[in-house]
Amino acid sequence: MEATRTFFLAMAKNQAARSLATKYGLRFGAKRFVAGETLPEALEQIKRLNRDGIVATLDRLGEFVSTKEESERAAGWALETVEGIARSGVKSHLSIKLTQLGLDLGGDVCEANVRRILHKAKQHGIFVRMDMEDFPRCQTTVDLFKKMHTEFPLTGLVIQSYLFRAEADVLDLQTNLRLVKGAYKEPSTVAFPEKAKVDENLITLIKHQLDNGWYVAVASHDDKIIAWTKDYVKKNNISKDKFEFQMLYGIKTEIQKKLAQEGYRVRIYVPYGTDWYGYFMRRLAERPANIWFIMKNFFKK
Ligand SMILES: Cc1cc2nc3c(=O)[nH]c(=O)nc-3n(C[C@H](O)[C@H](O)[C@H](O)COP(=O)(O)OP(=O)(O)OC[C@H]3O[C@@H](n4cnc5c(N)ncnc54)[C@H](O)[C@@H]3O)c2cc1C
Repeated sequence: MEATRTFFLAMAKNQAARSLATKYGLRFGAKRFVAGETLPEALEQIKRLNRDGIVATLDRLGEFVSTKEESERAAGWALETVEGIARSGVKSHLSIKLTQLGLDLGGDVCEANVRRILHKAKQHGIFVRMDMEDFPRCQTTVDLFKKMHTEFPLTGLVIQSYLFRAEADVLDLQTNLRLVKGAYKEPSTVAFPEKAKVDENLITLIKHQLDNGWYVAVASHDDKIIAWTKDYVKKNNISKDKFEFQMLYGIKTEIQKKLAQEGYRVRIYVPYGTDWYGYFMRRLAERPANIWFIMKNFFKK
């Protein structure tokens, strides 16, 4: 199980496999997790979710660019995505990944790209969430978020409960957070190797957010985490506008609808674009049973 996870997480970073997969379009079952290769396709999927009382956060897929030009092109896509959300009137936030916007390139490349996006999003009143990537980028992501947040309050960050540092970050940030378990392969020097500890820490973090009135997006498909949250808010009289549940596009869709019908705020992370490979590999790593799903789809478009 752990070996399969490690394999897919290593594959997520394999550039040759990435170019090969992308050349063949949304195949091998990737369509289940990716809303389409184009913005209009993704917006159609969000309209469908909105009709079920579910909101979204839209992400133009991509990560780890190696030139300034690539990062600027990615920023252009994010701007287009913001315009698309505004024009179509769908209920959606924007999610961004800083490595796609030049985080690894140094200087102020990433900051300049992020600033352009946040400026445009602000004009349209659209909330922007900064995803959290692997551990070596954690501190720089937190730093850039803090800097931007003072200027653009309609922004939020992601914290991963598998990291030892997560609780200190939550208490320091005191802001609107999406809390997740964490999707990357991290060493035991920085992250809990035991799943039980990761789950337990996620509950601790959610509790901090709820107890302090800091808005929280509980982003998990784990029935136990969802049940715990529902129970905790009920016992503590916390109103439904202080938190939301978030899930990924294509995962546990019936539960998504059920939560929305029960009156909870539910937001789906909707990824789109041609650079779906790394995202798809991480979804396979999370659940090896998904491999059977790929096998079935191997020869289908
Ligand atoms: C909205 C959202 C945004 C996210 N943003 C980030 C981010 O910025 N950075 C980051 O590191 N991680 C992010 N993640 C991923 C997260 O860290 C986990 O890797 C992922 O959510 C799986 O953990 P889980 O909490 O669902 O619990 P798990 O214990 O992994 O899974 C619980 C159950 O959910 C179902 N499930 C989980 N994953 C899958 C899957 N891939 N396919 C099918 N069923 C599945 C299974 O039934 C499983 O038993 C995000 C997740 C969500 C929902």
